Amino acid sequence: MKPHVAIVGAGLAGSVLADLLVKNDCLVTVFDKSRGTGGRLSTCRLGDYSADLGAPYILDGSDSATEIDFSNWLQTQPQIEQWSPRVTDFKGDAIEHLRFSTASPRQSALTRSLITGAEFIPSTRVGYIWPELVEEKAGVIVRDDKGKGLGQFDAVVVATPALQAVPLLEAIPRFMKKAESIAPEVSWVHVMVTYSESRETPDLILGQHEVLSRITKDSAKPGRICPENSDVWVIEANKEWSRAHENTSPDVVAQHLRKAFMELFPTHNHVIAERTHRWLYARHSKTDADFLWDSFSRIGVCGDWFGQGETNAAWQSATLLSKALIEHFQQMDMPSDNHLIAV
Ligand SMILES: Cc1cc2nc3c(=O)[nH]c(=O)nc-3n(C[C@H](O)[C@H](O)[C@H](O)COP(=O)(O)OP(=O)(O)OC[C@H]3O[C@@H](n4cnc5c(N)ncnc54)[C@H](O)[C@@H]3O)c2cc1C
Repeated sequence: MKPHVAIVGAGLAGSVLADLLVKNDCLVTVFDKSRGTGGRLSTCRLGDYSADLGAPYILDGSDSATEIDFSNWLQTQPQIEQWSPRVTDFKGDAIEHLRFSTASPRQSALTRSLITGAEFIPSTRVGYIWPELVEEKAGVIVRDDKGKGLGQFDAVVVATPALQAVPLLEAIPRFMKKAESIAPEVSWVHVMVTYSESRETPDLILGQHEVLSRITKDSAKPGRICPENSDVWVIEANKEWSRAHENTSPDVVAQHLRKAFMELFPTHNHVIAERTHRWLYARHSKTDADFLWDSFSRIGVCGDWFGQGETNAAWQSATLLSKALIEHFQQMDMPSDNHLIAV
């Protein structure tokens, strides 16, 4: 019988792990509390438009071995396209030679494709994970947040932001403590569709600003469809401003972010649709481990809070945990027709 693994979270980490386990002959069920995949790479709808609400892109190429491996892996994903936007700082000075990777036609296309071989159960918030014998078979029980049984699995992996992992890790207090020790960073994001006949804007604005950290013209990314004279913008508040306004109402945040945008681009003042989102766990403080795995209870943890706290860390953590899980199942004397392929 193939080992059956449950993964909590269909963000990049959970989806990469699902893909690698399926390719190594495991049955995989992925639960997510949201309606779709992506987590912090998800896409939101705004009437007839859509926009990437989390990471707008992934920085291409870097120095460390992990980043080179991640970059090489990204190039093998059919949804990934290169993006060379016109970039300026907030004063309007050009920033040259920046190249990014982004999934097309939206960021969530990457996670959607990675979990194709797994069973995906959306709109299900997992609330309980516990190692338990069922009819003398060792495994891990999973229940939703209302106590409804979701099944017994040969292993369960929690691939959520650190603080969302805490209540799921009660069975292993040292894992729970580790998750509790991670400090999350809040981030306010305002998405806006504007109508303007002026096309004189950069595609990406970065750098120092009293309110903002980045403005991305989502509609300039590869594969996006946007009617003529319309643009979709993703406006991110900076770390300090987001922290100071963590509990401010979305309407007030929207006013501030819209105003900061209009001061930069006064000709883009005709707003067709808009939406404001607060990411409570946008990024994380770093932790020293690559992932957590307890072969006795068969519970593992991965995500971007293992490492540098961004997409490359989520990918690396999931990739390394997949190797530990595959090794575990081989040692458990699973059927000998399991073929281990390199990950
Ligand atoms: C605004 C913003 C901008 C960013 N910009 C960049 C950038 O430029 N470059 C970069 O590399 N990274 C960036 N990041 C960070 C990047 O998006 C994340 O590092 C990465 O996507 C994290 O992936 P993950 O799988 O670890 O977690 P997540 O994407 O958070 O996935 C976790 C999933 O678990 C689900 N979940 C949580 N609890 C439960 C539960 N109890 N039951 C079921 N499901 C549950 C959630 O719904 C979610 O789908 C940005 C993030 C944000 C928010």
